[in-house]
Amino acid sequence: MKNIAILGSTGSIGQNSLSVIRGFPDKFRVVGLSTNSNVDILYQQIKEFHPLSVCIKDINAAFKLKSKLKSRGIKIFIGEDGLPDMIQHKSIDLIILAISGSGALLPLLKAIDNGNDIALANKEAMVAAGPIIMDKAGKQGIKIMPIDSEQSAIWQCLDGQQKNKLKNIYLTASGGPFRKTNGKAFKNISLKQVLRHPRWKMGKKNTVDSATLMNKGLEVLETMFLFNVELDKIKILIHPEAIIHSMVEFIDGVILAQLSVADMRIPIQYALSYPQRLSSRFSSIDFLKLRRLNFEKPDFKKFPCLELAYQAAKEKGTLPCVLNAANEVSVAEFLKKRINFVSIPKVIEKVIDRHRNNKQPTLDDILEADGWAKKEAYKVIDKL
Ligand code: MG
Repeated sequence: MKNIAILGSTGSIGQNSLSVIRGFPDKFRVVGLSTNSNVDILYQQIKEFHPLSVCIKDINAAFKLKSKLKSRGIKIFIGEDGLPDMIQHKSIDLIILAISGSGALLPLLKAIDNGNDIALANKEAMVAAGPIIMDKAGKQGIKIMPIDSEQSAIWQCLDGQQKNKLKNIYLTASGGPFRKTNGKAFKNISLKQVLRHPRWKMGKKNTVDSATLMNKGLEVLETMFLFNVELDKIKILIHPEAIIHSMVEFIDGVILAQLSVADMRIPIQYALSYPQRLSSRFSSIDFLKLRRLNFEKPDFKKFPCLELAYQAAKEKGTLPCVLNAANEVSVAEFLKKRINFVSIPKVIEKVIDRHRNNKQPTLDDILEADGWAKKEAYKVIDKL
């Protein structure tokens, strides 16, 4: 029996994780859940999964739930400091980190300090502070098991292989909703169009990132840090069917790929059950119906976020953190309809240009750069 805490249980990955856990009541037990403010969904989850403790970041929302929970004997943690306290509980074997944004960084480091294995869905923390996270995890002997579908594919393909015989990683991308849209029409792209992803159902942040292709840019950085691979070995490949979730090529010309239908519960289940495989009720690929798979080159001109991410990946230091922070603010403001779609890369580029890169950052330097870049992004947006 694995005791699991889910940080961000009311979001898309959190709900998918609980859907996996629901199928294996004899293998997984939910001991902790957390949300920002979505206490209605959290309350339903508490009634079904009976966790020992929950954490609610928003104080007002927390008090709303507290009165409902009175007689259930559940420990409630509240506010920004609640999460690190909640995950301190000795009963936890595995933490699913499904919060989005760089705010996941400190809970992630705390979880590593506590000695918990981590199923990682959040990519922003890895982008911002990959070397620090991997170093800490290595020293503590912590397993970080990726839930992001591409990273899960790479992880599965590399399992049991000699990593020094790796030649290339093909990081696949569906291409998002605007793969075929003419670049000239980009300035008229609406929020509604952005939120309609052709292949994956995801949270809003991730969906916007998939439309700008910043999601793939962040994944290049994530791959580089998570697997300690040189940047020039990572190739982005547009693959609209989203059936191959990534591939690795070895020096002898052999390529291993991981294929499955586009359902986040598949990589989630693998991270939870690793190193075992459990049978699932998810659908499988019908190759005869599918008939062919397509591949295209990514269009760096139409999607400037890719170029910006590569720049950050080349220069490393605090720049990946700055790229990510400026993107988080831009996406949040786009979701509020304060800026348009084409402004997202423009804001990020301006913030990157203003940053003096620190090549050997400490955790404090990273946190400072994150705060600086977010402030700077708001300044740029105010002047648009
Ligand atoms: Mg992904």
